[in-house]
Amino acid sequence: MSQQQFENFTASSLYCEKCKAAMPVRERLLLILPDKEIYDYLCTGCASSVGQREVTAGEKMMAQAMARRRRRRVPAQRIQL
Ligand SMILES: [Zn+2]
Repeated sequence: MSQQQFENFTASSLYCEKCKAAMPVRERLLLILPDKEIYDYLCTGCASSVGQREVTAGEKMMAQAMARRRRRRVPAQRIQL
C-alpha cells in the first residue's frame, strides 16, 4: 500500500507542449556517467522529449530495488552482467 506513495516521486506523466496535455511518459536511458545516469522522458503520445532527469548512484540503487519488487523475478546472475 505504501508503494503507491513512492510512485509519486517518479514522473509518470508530464505536460507535453505538442499534445497540450499531461501525457504518460516513457523513461529512456540517455547517458551513463560514473556517478549518475541521465534519463530522457518521452511523451507516449507523440514520442517527443518532455523532460530529463538525473539519477545519482544512490537513487538508482533505490529505484532498482523498487523495480525488482514490481517486475518478474530476474536471476541474480543476469543482473551482474
Ligand atoms: Zn506529446
